[in-house]
Amino acid sequence: MCGVVGIIGGKEAPFWAARGLYALQHRGHDSCGIAFINDDADQLEIHSGKGAVADVLSHKVTDGAVSNACIAQNLYTTFGLGHSPQPFGGSFWDEDGSKHHVALVHNGQLCGVDRLRRKFPSMYRSQSDSEVIFALLPHMKGETMLERITQLVSELEGAFSLVFLTKEGLIAVRDPDGFRPLVLGRDQENDAYMLASEVNAFDMMEGHFERDIKPGEIVHISHSGKITIDHIPSKRENLSQCVFEHIYFARPDNQLFGKPGYSTQKRLGTETAKEVKGIMEADVVVPVPDSATIASLGFAEEIGLPLEMGILRHHFASRTFITRGQGNRERAVRLKFNIVKDVVKGKRVVLVDDSLVRSTTSRILIKMLRKSGAKEIHMVLFSPHIQYSCVYGINTPTREELIAYKFDADSKRIAKEIGADSVTYLTKEGLEKAMEPNAHDYCYACMDGNYPIDDKSSLSQSIS
Ligand code: SF4
Repeated sequence: MCGVVGIIGGKEAPFWAARGLYALQHRGHDSCGIAFINDDADQLEIHSGKGAVADVLSHKVTDGAVSNACIAQNLYTTFGLGHSPQPFGGSFWDEDGSKHHVALVHNGQLCGVDRLRRKFPSMYRSQSDSEVIFALLPHMKGETMLERITQLVSELEGAFSLVFLTKEGLIAVRDPDGFRPLVLGRDQENDAYMLASEVNAFDMMEGHFERDIKPGEIVHISHSGKITIDHIPSKRENLSQCVFEHIYFARPDNQLFGKPGYSTQKRLGTETAKEVKGIMEADVVVPVPDSATIASLGFAEEIGLPLEMGILRHHFASRTFITRGQGNRERAVRLKFNIVKDVVKGKRVVLVDDSLVRSTTSRILIKMLRKSGAKEIHMVLFSPHIQYSCVYGINTPTREELIAYKFDADSKRIAKEIGADSVTYLTKEGLEKAMEPNAHDYCYACMDGNYPIDDKSSLSQSIS
């Protein structure tokens, strides 16, 4: 999973793109980068590096960079595909000598990458599926870059929200299954158009949300602000928007897949409470900040228990789920959280979290809560058991590392393993209720194993 940004219009596109990317830091912090076509030299400039936006895209990069079109990306490396900072880009020449500058940013993960590599042999430098997209472009036919890209994306399968930077303008593409979000925004004052993975980037870019890029749409925005739209035909009846975006990744101050992020997360908590109401006895609800805070409000309201911030988070710590290596993850959890002893001492605590993936965070938090005097700890998750790996761009680990798979989705055994008095998951039915009125337009594959794209080559990368 990654965060992508694009902007066209005005003269300071790199500055605004870096600001938008900063707002999407929660979507990945392995590396980041920007690409723009320099106004004076007609040259494509790409700056990228390992680390966070504030470190890599400092004022040294963006100040004085004059360009009216720019794309940018935060990378969080997808399982098995190596670490290759984006944007990917460069120049290529046609047989008639015409030169093209192109760069692209990608959020998602393609299926059938090996098939594409065989069909379009090239000098691939990395394992990245996004590099394959870039390498396919010279093979495509068309008078304009838009025609080439339209032909190219019809060759792709899987999860892809893409923004291309070309001399003809920006081209945004969202796969017909709609796995990952991509939204269009506008800054009226400078007559700029903006693209981003999440709406909150527009606040930072001083723009506003216009609409979602619809699944299967190819949207071309020219330098003069003219918009043209084409479509990739869909092969499936329903969409496969990633339900985990609502559960864990996307910020609640967003609209996501047409739903308000805050109230959807609250509904997840409410549905979870409905399933345990009258069964669970406890004194206080304590959320794991920040990803469980909003859902916990819905949970506490519905179940009728006080909500207290019994766990505090150090704000400069990164998200542990997207930190590499088990040892690093454990150290990161200890650095990230602290317990408010007065809140939990002598209490029966309902510890609410979004999901159990490896269970690293929960295991350590439960130890810390017991050490702080909690009498009982009942863990509640507002997602069903995560039993399958994701092959559409979320870095869930191999099945063997997933605690729900290891313990056969047996909540009693899972509770014992992580040191809780009980563990309760939201059921798939409860999750679907929270996603109504269009629950059928979501992917739940990591929970139920129903992969919407049955691509064996991708599945074999992560599912043993
Ligand atoms: Fe999202 Fe899970 Fe589907 Fe991956 S498998 S796209 S994480 S719902």
